[in-house]
Amino acid sequence: MLPAPPGFSNGHTPRSRRGRARGSVVGRHGNVGAGTPHNPPLAPPCTDFDVAYFKAYSHLGVHEEMLKDHVRTETYRSAIMRYQNFIAGKVVLDVGCGTGILSIFCAFAGARRVYAVDASEIVVQAVEVVKENNLSDKIIVLHGRVEDVNIEEKVDVIVSEWMGYMLLYESMLASVIFARDKWLKPGGLILPSHAVLYMAPVTHSERYRESVDFWRDVYGIKMSSMVPLAKQCAFEEPSVETITGENVLTWPSLVKQVDCYTIKSQELETVTENFKFSSMLHAPLHGFAFWFDVEFDGPAISSPNYNLLVDSLSPSDQLPQSSSQNKKRAKSDETIVLSTAPEDTPTHWQQTLLYLYDPIELKQDQIIEGSITLTQSRENSRFLNIHLEYSSSGGRSFVKESVMR
Ligand code: SAH
Repeated sequence: MLPAPPGFSNGHTPRSRRGRARGSVVGRHGNVGAGTPHNPPLAPPCTDFDVAYFKAYSHLGVHEEMLKDHVRTETYRSAIMRYQNFIAGKVVLDVGCGTGILSIFCAFAGARRVYAVDASEIVVQAVEVVKENNLSDKIIVLHGRVEDVNIEEKVDVIVSEWMGYMLLYESMLASVIFARDKWLKPGGLILPSHAVLYMAPVTHSERYRESVDFWRDVYGIKMSSMVPLAKQCAFEEPSVETITGENVLTWPSLVKQVDCYTIKSQELETVTENFKFSSMLHAPLHGFAFWFDVEFDGPAISSPNYNLLVDSLSPSDQLPQSSSQNKKRAKSDETIVLSTAPEDTPTHWQQTLLYLYDPIELKQDQIIEGSITLTQSRENSRFLNIHLEYSSSGGRSFVKESVMR
């Protein structure tokens, strides 16, 4: 079993973070408090939880982990380079620049100017990194929440690595939406452009044995009295760990599709979806796994400025001419996808598992159905309340409540 990742809530949560938000300019341009767009979105208050969140991101280790995730970082680089015809000569906003890596990729792609914004103290390092790459004339590093900083112009491109565990944990997408509504020009490009959260039933006897059956015989001593507590400790909260395609019992189901060009932050407050799986194997059901993909596409064809974008893309970049009415959005073979699926190369996001306290023996073709609801916690909007309902054909229904904190 993997240790819980370091985090911003209690020292034990996803990807991490802690910090303090303020609106000072670290780059060369003083730029707090400039022009007011017609209907700018109102900045939400910066709570103590946000302060803790940004502090967590001031630790180098978190950034090291993300940078060492080659799948993540190389996919972003490829996507930025794919759009270099669009980016060249343009203005980019990097929402949550961290060490500045994506801003630098955009500068390499020919951006005229990049605003690299981060509310965490890590920007102090980003300034130095930008300097040692001789990019201080192109990349302006701003220390503050993207909701609070002021930049002097509208931008053509927004780039951001906002995805948390289970996609929505951390709720950073809301900041990208804010930035889009305030700073992105019509027809502008958002990287990544789309995201999809999936779930699938899984079998994982080894994990169950390690966490639960272990207590039945400890050096020949019976400790079965520990089993209820062991189940609670191991399975009460979501578990971030790597599984493989072999753990997955059938095709995944879609939980949420996000179009970064159009989504509204209210849509993220509660996400709910029904599921119905037919097990492809005869195996114990131990729980459900969640993972996501993000895609790097231009704005939808219906956008009034779509042609502006398409004209500046090379032919191989161009988008499919229709979008599917099916549940899953159609994408071209050329679309660059960052996948965190169990059958793909592992990333630092791994997969998120919701384990059942007691496995259910499934026969092949047996149906498992229910619903999943992910709600931003009222206590701390960066936490996720998870409500899972499930039953297998002919069996009783169960409800499992958990919190990703
Ligand atoms: N872009 C970097 C870092 C990604 S991690 C990379 O790809 O390596 C996300 C970063 O976004 C963190 O450094 C965090 O402090 C920052 N961040 C999150 N929400 C933010 C907000 N509202 N305003 C500014 N920075 C934010």
